[in-house]
Amino acid sequence: MLVEMMFGAMAVTKLLLWVLQQLILNVRVVGDELDEDTRDRMQHRAEQLSREMAWLLQELEQQKSQELRSKEQNPVAWRALLFAALQHWQFWAIAGILLLLILGLCWCLRCEFVTDLVNTFILVAEQVSSDGSFPVLRPCFGIGCAHEGWSPYEEDIIYSLLVPLAPPSGHAFLPELCNPGETPERNFRIRVQLECTCATEQLGGGTLCFLHHDEEALRRNQGPSLLHSLCTGCYLDVGKTVRRFHQLVKACWVVLPHSHRWRLTMLACSRSCKFKVATAEEEITIEITLGVQQGDSDIFMSSQASEAIFTPSTTWTLSCAVAEAKFFELTARQAPDGSFHLRCLQLCARILVGTGFSSYTLKTVVMHLLNTTPLSGWHRTRFLLRLDDIMRYLCRCVEEKRLDHFFFGNEKIPQEIALPPALQRAQPFNLFQHLAQDPDAQAEAMREFMDMQDCLTRMLTYGH
Ligand SMILES: [Zn+2]
Repeated sequence: MLVEMMFGAMAVTKLLLWVLQQLILNVRVVGDELDEDTRDRMQHRAEQLSREMAWLLQELEQQKSQELRSKEQNPVAWRALLFAALQHWQFWAIAGILLLLILGLCWCLRCEFVTDLVNTFILVAEQVSSDGSFPVLRPCFGIGCAHEGWSPYEEDIIYSLLVPLAPPSGHAFLPELCNPGETPERNFRIRVQLECTCATEQLGGGTLCFLHHDEEALRRNQGPSLLHSLCTGCYLDVGKTVRRFHQLVKACWVVLPHSHRWRLTMLACSRSCKFKVATAEEEITIEITLGVQQGDSDIFMSSQASEAIFTPSTTWTLSCAVAEAKFFELTARQAPDGSFHLRCLQLCARILVGTGFSSYTLKTVVMHLLNTTPLSGWHRTRFLLRLDDIMRYLCRCVEEKRLDHFFFGNEKIPQEIALPPALQRAQPFNLFQHLAQDPDAQAEAMREFMDMQDCLTRMLTYGH
């Protein structure tokens, strides 16, 4: 029976391998629409995943031959039972990991497509809105779990991007704190100020100076300034900016090369731009957050809502999403082949679904651990040890009612990630503040943690 089960396992893994090969072929097909660099990156990632898969298959083969040898040497029933139990969890764990690898590759392929689509849109939008009535759009950043290569869900994934906004000609963006003295500094307003562009105008470039031409001349030659179209008072308004961006996506879609194959459906969303693109076979949901960069750093003041019940439309909230994506890219570059840090995160994220813990909590735990554990320690052979580390770390945080935000006042942030001085100097910020303030919430969190631990054991043993 055991041998039959192992042959069943081999059939499943061979099927998974076939799916992976189809996906690798797909890199070439989808790749026709992409530039050479992007295609090379995708191909490299596909090959890396293929190698990880080959190792796992090799391990299954070795287990199978070991089991056959032991059966020949020692046909005692209890020994076979012991092996059966052992093989059982190893099979499910390996089959589960193979599935995660395939999902990871699907996300990787789609993310490259999504980034390409949005960057092409940005190029077109620049031509349509170059009169100073809309911020200048910079190339987008992939953010969030799908871009980083993990997700709590297998379906209904939303591909998130951040599009940086820069002031157009004749304007300056001057960020201000919404509540001076607030710690940490997380809510901003962006004051828009007109600047004289007479000098560049005389050189024959750019738009008419908004400060020194009369309204009639400005109306005849160009649209209203951004200050008069997208602001409330003198502050850049999130709602107005997002609505205008939404209209731009709709208007530019028909000239994008992607519109030949894909159908666009705009979705309602007040603080970000959300839409679906679909063919007869597949559908991709994309969410674009707008953001103004803090100096030259990887931190943005974004259009996303704050945690407060009501976020005023002139409030732009601090976003570390680009810095987080950069941290995961950096980790992937530095980690040796066969690193399973994303698989650990993926597996733990799945057991969080439906609990009071957010996937951001788990991501923060894993970022702290990645930053303090040597990357060689995340090799696939130490997969279970690292899962254990993650669960212990989370347990300690619940007990101590304290989980520090990864970026606030953390002296161990890799120097490749640029943080604004205020964030470097900031006091650590406790993401578990609510547990510290409410003993009932802490007791509930501990109960949920125990359930999650049981769920993880079940998943590793039975695969569901
Ligand atoms: Zn002027």
